[in-house]
Amino acid sequence: MKRVYNFSPGPSMLPLPVLKQAAVEMTDAQGSGQSVMEMSHRSGDFKPIIENTEALLRSLMGIPPNYRVLFLQGGASLQFSMIPINLAGVEPGAPKKRATYVETGIWAKKAAEEGAKYVELVLGASSQDRAYTYIPKPPAPNPGDAYYHITLNNTIVGTRWTDLPSTGRVPLVADISSSILSAPLEVSRFGLLYAGAQKNLGPAGTTVVIIREDLIGKAPSWTPAMLRYDLHAQEGSLYNTPSCYGIYIIGLVLEWLKALGGVPAIAELNRKKAALFYGYLDHSRLFRSPVDPAFRSLMNLPFVAVLADPLERANLERRFVQEAARQGLVNLAGHRLVGGMRASMYNAMPIEGVQALIRFMEHFEEREKEGGTHVSHTNHEQDLSSRA
Ligand SMILES: *Cc1c(COP(=O)(O)O)cnc(C)c1O
Repeated sequence: MKRVYNFSPGPSMLPLPVLKQAAVEMTDAQGSGQSVMEMSHRSGDFKPIIENTEALLRSLMGIPPNYRVLFLQGGASLQFSMIPINLAGVEPGAPKKRATYVETGIWAKKAAEEGAKYVELVLGASSQDRAYTYIPKPPAPNPGDAYYHITLNNTIVGTRWTDLPSTGRVPLVADISSSILSAPLEVSRFGLLYAGAQKNLGPAGTTVVIIREDLIGKAPSWTPAMLRYDLHAQEGSLYNTPSCYGIYIIGLVLEWLKALGGVPAIAELNRKKAALFYGYLDHSRLFRSPVDPAFRSLMNLPFVAVLADPLERANLERRFVQEAARQGLVNLAGHRLVGGMRASMYNAMPIEGVQALIRFMEHFEEREKEGGTHVSHTNHEQDLSSRA
């Protein structure tokens, strides 16, 4: 069997034991005589699957009883619309409600652009001035706001919030697509949390929404049925056919995580993996992290080559990504908007994968030195902004 170390930002690696169990259960899931793909979502066979997935998520994240867990579709991107509509949408002719957004990256910006269609948007702060390489000082909440939106881990630029903003009575809403279950999170600090599954939870196609009960039921009358939290909550995520197979795989991933020791254990492992990689980058003569060290992500770790000539650098980076792939270290190219490289190390990336990547980079660097590539130090924040 061939398995690569997949550093993709998403869809990303799944734990091998999960894939093996799914393979074993492919044609006969848990004695039902059917694949989960063939089950009616309203059957007695599927009910325990969705209930088990929810119960595991609740216990692993410590979700309080006054929060609902919804399994929806449309990705994190559909939440960019569902959140403003459901939490702050108004009837035709009524004045718009206000919401604050903090722009810390490309996904945060997309969320704000979509939100601005439905709310009076206050751009509380932005780190665009330095190519999103840091988290700005969070603005004070406006007491009348419907909500306050942040992106907890910025997948493309590789930053994360280290302290949550205090928003008083204004519900804090967070996109946790690329950090869910990677480290402890106090759910009660938030009004709503959401995540596309394809980074840390399972296959693409399922979106998890964790919403405080008092925020449900505020949608204006024009809201399309499929976009209403109240309807999905009433129906236990079975208003229409959910992503049954994805919900089942998420359940297997959560079982795997629980057996490993839950969030505290995986958080420790994630800290170790990131410390190894940043430790290497900070001593490398060829590669460097472009991100402010105070806000470095533990999940998505961008890096750039330290070459003054942009053409030379682009060539080297292209060669790096190709050679790494030949060694079974795949999907290391940075996002098309920012360039460079990026290693995403979600929960399922074993520490051996990170060690293999570092070994490859050390060899690569050694060969470049022998090959006489001119290595010089440049300003990396400028590097990144000139490309974005
Ligand atoms: C991947 C990602 C998204 C987009 O997710 P989709 O499920 O593809 O819509 C949004 N926000 C963050 C933080 C992400 O990492």
